[in-house]
Amino acid sequence: MLKCSIYKRKGMETLMRRIKSILKYAVDNCNYYSKLNIDNEITIDKFPVLRRKELIKNKNDLLSKKYIDTKEQLLLTFSSGTSGIPVEVLWHNSCYLRSIRPLWERRRKYYGITPLSRKIEFTLISEDSINNNLQYSINSNGDLLSIAVKSINSINSMETICKLFADFNPDWIYIQPSTLIRIVNYYRDNCYTPPKTIKYIECIGEVLQDSFKKEASIFFSAPVVNMYGSEEMNCIAYECPFHSLHVLSENVYAECYHDGDCYSSGRGEIVLTNINNYTMPLIRYLQGDIVELSEEKLCKCGYRDKMIRTIEGRVRNQCRLPSNIIINSIILGDCVRIVNKKLHDIIKEYSFKYDKKKKTLYTSIFVKDDDLSWKKQIKNALQQEYEKNGIDEIEYKYDIKKYNYFLEVGKKNNILEII
Ligand SMILES: [Zn+2]
Repeated sequence: MLKCSIYKRKGMETLMRRIKSILKYAVDNCNYYSKLNIDNEITIDKFPVLRRKELIKNKNDLLSKKYIDTKEQLLLTFSSGTSGIPVEVLWHNSCYLRSIRPLWERRRKYYGITPLSRKIEFTLISEDSINNNLQYSINSNGDLLSIAVKSINSINSMETICKLFADFNPDWIYIQPSTLIRIVNYYRDNCYTPPKTIKYIECIGEVLQDSFKKEASIFFSAPVVNMYGSEEMNCIAYECPFHSLHVLSENVYAECYHDGDCYSSGRGEIVLTNINNYTMPLIRYLQGDIVELSEEKLCKCGYRDKMIRTIEGRVRNQCRLPSNIIINSIILGDCVRIVNKKLHDIIKEYSFKYDKKKKTLYTSIFVKDDDLSWKKQIKNALQQEYEKNGIDEIEYKYDIKKYNYFLEVGKKNNILEII
């Protein structure tokens, strides 16, 4: 017990000291924060939240004056948003390395994965011209194979993936859950054996459902682990072997934003302060994801961080219905999973679209060829499930189609699209 409380106190003290240090540095060195006129004691609750559009607008003022003259030599990470204007974050090499180190430490500690391990990554970046061939490249060291997700659009491309998996001997895979689902299905349907070398699979970019995580883990005989990160922050949270999604407190300080204020925990939009990026300090950045955040808690794995209980998806991918019920991909996905269980797992994939003007929820369901005769049962069971969850007073439209591995390629980041 004594050991725990000392550990807690020390860990918390270090974190608080590091937060204080970045806050003071930001106020002293960045125009954006100097203008806030925070005098006396600098504490995080005196900082307003930083929205994505404010980051884009104030990117020069957010840059520390110490790096203005050497701006050209800095590392740039960027993410493209729905607006089409990318968010750009600058890093001095030492800040960047400090920021990514905690994730690498945990990868190595739990799964023996190091930067030297052979990796296959699935990337959302691709060239414009897409034919039936898989776009992929291997780095000069020969230990990193990158595959463009958008080019997975034919049986031919699926076959190439299976061949690459067998020939490349990867130690680990870095992949979006929706792509992993397709690959598992393809292997299964063709009775292929999964490669034996894979000892770890890291899922990124989308909400990873527990049921699928277990399924994929059994299929590949390897742990499938959730990593929640962003281009602006690097790693935000990482799942430990006891299946807790820990906020990586050596990299970010997490808070929760709801009803116009920041709270230390609760359900709402995640607010992040990067404690390693002194090049372009991001204090109380609204990341755009709805989560349920707990207070610091000692886990069986030995870490005492805040934990994320659920990631409900992007703020822009949830919506309040006329009946005042909020829908998001988790709530709708749960309805489908209940129906799927009742109907003996005939649903292979699904997506939703909600039209706010027409007050219509479109549900797309993909089933195996011979299950199309179940259309009516699927529709009725789903309708019942929706109504049971208060998803009513709207129109419903269903589209139940034969599954193939390449449906709506490139749009799969959003299980629920709001228009
Ligand atoms: Zn843990």
